[in-house]
Amino acid sequence: MSSTRRHVSHIGVLTSGGDAPGMNAAIRAVVRTAHFHGLRVSGVFEGYDGLVRDEIRPLAVRDVSNIIQRGGTILRSARSEAFFAPEGRAQAKRNLDGRGIDGLVVIGGDGTFRGASVFAVEHGVPVVGITGTIDNDLAGTDATIGFDTATNTAMQLIDRIRDTASSHDRLFFVEVMGRTSGAIAMHCGIASGAEFVMVPEHRQGIDQLIQVLERSAKSKSSVIVIVAEGDEEGGAYEVARKVKARFAHYDTRVSVLGHVQRGGNPTMADRLLASRTGVAAVEGLIEGRSGEMAGIVNGNLAWTRFEDAISGRKATDDDLLRILNILSI
Ligand code: ATP
Repeated sequence: MSSTRRHVSHIGVLTSGGDAPGMNAAIRAVVRTAHFHGLRVSGVFEGYDGLVRDEIRPLAVRDVSNIIQRGGTILRSARSEAFFAPEGRAQAKRNLDGRGIDGLVVIGGDGTFRGASVFAVEHGVPVVGITGTIDNDLAGTDATIGFDTATNTAMQLIDRIRDTASSHDRLFFVEVMGRTSGAIAMHCGIASGAEFVMVPEHRQGIDQLIQVLERSAKSKSSVIVIVAEGDEEGGAYEVARKVKARFAHYDTRVSVLGHVQRGGNPTMADRLLASRTGVAAVEGLIEGRSGEMAGIVNGNLAWTRFEDAISGRKATDDDLLRILNILSI
C-alpha cells in the first residue's frame, strides 16, 4: 500500500445478486485483510436488503474459518426492491452511521455495482466492488468469481451427456445458465466439443443450426447443441421443438443443467481470484478508493470504475465462435 493514511476504520461487506462459487473465499479475504490492517469489519446479511433492514453483525477472524472451499455465501444473498428507492438507500446510510461503518465492499454482478454506484454518489459512502457472478459479463477483469467453477461444472456434465448421446445416435440440446450472457455456453461449448452454440450476443438461428445438423448427420454418432437460457430462439426446449419439426435424423433429448451450475466447491482459479481481489478491495478502501471494482487483467490487479465495468460488458467474442465452428466440423 502506498499511503499510510487510512480512509476507513470500520468496513462492511455484503454479497448481492445471484450467488456464485468463490463468494465465501472473497468474504474470508475481506475479513482477514481488514483485521490484518487493524480495521473493524462487519458482515451485512442478504445483500442490500440486509443493509436496509440493518441485518449487520461484526465478523471476527475465526468467523470466516473453513469457508474458502465452500460454494454459496455465508452472508446469504438477495435481490432488494427497497434499495432501488431513495428512501431505502437513506435508511441503509442511517444503519451504517449507527454502527460507525465508513466503507463498504460489495461482492456481486452488474446490478450490484449499479446499486453501489448510486449509493456511493448519493451518500458519499466509499464503496469498492469485487466481482461475484457466474456470468463473466463485466469489463475490467479477465474472469469474474464463480465463472471458472460454473463452466467446469457444466463442462463435466456435458461430458457425461456426450457419453450417453454417442451410445444412441442422439441429438442433445443442453441449456446452460446465461440470461444475457453467453459466456458459459460459449466456453463450455468449446471445452466439451459441442457441435453448435446459441448465445444471446450472436444471432445464430435455427437455419444455421439445421445446416450443421445436416452436415453432422453424415459423419457423427452424436450431436450436442448448447443453448444459453437467454437465447433469442428460446431455451433448449423451445429450440428442440423448432428443430424437431424440420430434422428427424436423430433421436432428440433436452437437458437443462439449471442450478447445479451455481453450487459446488470453487475451483483453485476462483479461490485465487477471490483472495487476490478481496485483499485489494480492503487495501483500496484504506487508500481512499471508491466507485471502483477490483479485477485481474493479464495476471495483474486492475481497478475499473463501476460505470465502465457495467457498460463495457464483454460480449462473447467473435473469435470464440469462429474457433467453435472450425473445431466442430
Ligand atoms: P447477477 O449477475 O448474478 O444477476 P447482479 O449483481 O447483477 O448479480 P441484480 O439482481 O441485478 O444482481 O442486482 C442486485 C441488487 O442490486 C438489486 O436487487 C438491487 O437491490 C441493487 N440494484 C441494482 N440496480 C440498482 C440501481 N439502479 N439502483 C439501486 N440499486 C440497484
